[in-house]
Amino acid sequence: MCSLKNLEAQIVRFRDEREWKIYHTPKNLAISLIIELGELLEHFQWKTDEEILSAVRDEAKRKEIAYEIADVAIYLILLSHELGVDLEKAIVEKLQVNGEKYPVEKVKGELFKEFSRV
Ligand SMILES: [Mg+2]
Repeated sequence: MCSLKNLEAQIVRFRDEREWKIYHTPKNLAISLIIELGELLEHFQWKTDEEILSAVRDEAKRKEIAYEIADVAIYLILLSHELGVDLEKAIVEKLQVNGEKYPVEKVKGELFKEFSRV
C-alpha cells in the first residue's frame, strides 16, 4: 500500500538528495504547482470533453497526462510538507466539512436542476 505519508517521504527524500530544498520556499512551490497545472491544461486546451476522453484512450497520451497530474500532486505534497500541513488529515477533515455543508439529501440532483433552468 502506498499511503500519502509514504509518498511524501519518498518525494522529500528525492528532493533532499539533490539539495533542492533551498529552492522550495512556499511561494516557489505554489508557483511551480500552478505551472504544472498549466502543463496539464495544455492537453485540454481547445478540446471538447469528448475529445479529451477520446485522447486518453491512447496509452501514450494517457501517460503524458498522468505524468502532468503526478507533477501537480508532487508539488502539492511538497507545498503541504513545507507549510506543516498534514495533507491526508486536511483532506479527510475538508470532506467532513463539505459533507456537512452539502448533505446528500439536500443537494443530490439540485445542480442538474439549476443547469436545466438556464
Ligand atoms: Mg510537468
